[in-house]
Amino acid sequence: CGIVGYTGARAALGIVLDGLRRLEYRGYDSAGVAVVAEGGLLVCKRAGKLANLEKALSERDDWQPPAQSGDGAGQGGGAAPSPTGISGGTTAIGHTRWATHGGPTDRNAHPHLSSDCRVGVIHNGIIENFAQLRDELEGCDVEFASDTDTECVAHLLCRELEQSGVEDLAEAMRRVCRRLEGAFTLLAVDANAPDTVVGARRSSPLVVGRGDGENYLASDVSAFIEHTRDAIELGQDQVVVITPDEVVITDFAGNVTAGKDFHIDWDA
Ligand code: GLU
Repeated sequence: CGIVGYTGARAALGIVLDGLRRLEYRGYDSAGVAVVAEGGLLVCKRAGKLANLEKALSERDDWQPPAQSGDGAGQGGGAAPSPTGISGGTTAIGHTRWATHGGPTDRNAHPHLSSDCRVGVIHNGIIENFAQLRDELEGCDVEFASDTDTECVAHLLCRELEQSGVEDLAEAMRRVCRRLEGAFTLLAVDANAPDTVVGARRSSPLVVGRGDGENYLASDVSAFIEHTRDAIELGQDQVVVITPDEVVITDFAGNVTAGKDFHIDWDA
């Protein structure tokens, strides 16, 4: 129900959690974050209020360590990362969920990961054709770790990167979005592209916040208004890539396009 992404020079976790807090008014049943750090994705997610997520983060008991193989977004395992890990990473995504497919549990909370933990995805909306996509993936021996419609996107992105020879996450996202039906705002991170967050939207809101040496993505400007008031509204069926110094927007076919620049001059 709420989406925040950040990449820049500052510690991303606190910025993303603050953004989620500012989106709390929209209502949600669970929350989670993925931070790109230590060569992998560190993931923590919890059913219930943000306070549950923050407690889990403070206990540092369930971060997904890098390069953990096995059952996808499973909890725990491996050594806890060093303190510089999750709190030191400068690229992160965060989500508050309003469950539509799969109950409001820890395992159904976002982010969802590809089986090799390379790609992490958060999503607002509904992927209408997820059952068909899930059947196709399960037919290729992909094991699912949740009951959500969202998880298939993480596996599809990973297949594009690992098997179809697609070079970057943005192109993988464009290819996957062309296959999706329904309404979605998606954000994804790739452990192999530490300074990058990729977003996509169809019939669900996504805005870019432009900072100085840092950029934001969010479902609502209130998530980043305390940091910047320079924003770009994405159009229908667009993919955006943010790095600390750049924002690149394309349509789902890969043609570079422009979003709608605006200045937030109201109080939020
Ligand atoms: N359909 C997704 C789910 O149930 C996303 C729900 C949302 O918009 O928060 O997990």
